[in-house]
Amino acid sequence: MSAEALLSVRSLSVNFRTRSGTVAVLDRVTFDVAPGEIVGIVGESGSGKSVTAFAVMGILDAAAQITSGEILFEGRNVLAMGARERDAWRGSEASIIFQNPRTALNPIRTAGEQIGDVLARHVPDTATVIRAKVLDALRQVRIPDPEKRAKSYPFELSGGLCQRIGIAMALSCSPKLLIADEPTTGLDVTTQAVIMDLIRDLAHERNLGTVLITHDLALASEYCDRIVVMHAGHVVEAAPVAELFAHPRHPYTTRLLRSVPSIADDISQLQAISGSLPDLRRSDLPPCRFAERCDRRIPACDAAGLMLEAAGPSHTVACRNPL
Ligand code: ADP
Ligand code: MG
Repeated sequence: MSAEALLSVRSLSVNFRTRSGTVAVLDRVTFDVAPGEIVGIVGESGSGKSVTAFAVMGILDAAAQITSGEILFEGRNVLAMGARERDAWRGSEASIIFQNPRTALNPIRTAGEQIGDVLARHVPDTATVIRAKVLDALRQVRIPDPEKRAKSYPFELSGGLCQRIGIAMALSCSPKLLIADEPTTGLDVTTQAVIMDLIRDLAHERNLGTVLITHDLALASEYCDRIVVMHAGHVVEAAPVAELFAHPRHPYTTRLLRSVPSIADDISQLQAISGSLPDLRRSDLPPCRFAERCDRRIPACDAAGLMLEAAGPSHTVACRNPL
């Protein structure tokens, strides 16, 4: 792990038990997040982005099993924490916000009560102090008229305001790490930009290590310092944004880049990503889970032992025939 990492996910593998057998959903996922850095995790739907986020936060469902790997937070292995220590860690040191902000909130508690609940869980304070902190949290996420909004129920608030409440809850105990799992999917384009600007500004002001999970590479390119590309439970490539766009090495990354209208050099190059993610229940999955969709496949791709390897300073790629 690099000396300055806030979060270091090392070779994390996660299986799910299903009726049709065990599915290796994450396979040796590895990436770092430095303090204040915004790291994008991108990939098609089903590539394991949310499972990665839930594993880091310790909120995987009961069918999931972490079979190997480490999750280091400031050098401490969070997987070795006891349940109470992990609960205290979640919320006070690391927080998550979700897609569908309205359903992530409790429909029968006001915005202010929900933020207050998070504060009270972590720091014992008088009701008066908590009320003041709630208003401050609402101000920090730029909610106009916080006194009024504190008394609103989720159904009285727009999707964008609900997500700001979610961010206020996540940041109320001043964590060092924020994971945002598709935080703007389902919001209109203008609101998306407002929420993303807010997340970026808060990350910079608070030196908050941030993981932005999105299927939208254009969004990630605008807001992230570094991008981690996932495909079918593998990290296939990771690099600083400018480097990834100038010198993509993995064939899947180039396909993702060509599928984004604002990034493809000219519209005639715009292409959909052909094929679909392989069925992870298969027993004959090739070592590279992209091989069957890849136009650069060579015999070496079928040899075991595929790993993420250095492709330059702070650039890694897992490919036997990179560009
Ligand atoms: P993403 O967030 O990238 O769209 P996910 O992390 O949600 O993808 O899912 C990754 C893979 O894990 C998918 O193939 C999905 O079907 C599988 N998966 C997620 N949750 C479960 C579960 N509870 N049981 C079985 N498989 C699951
Ligand atoms: Mg997801």
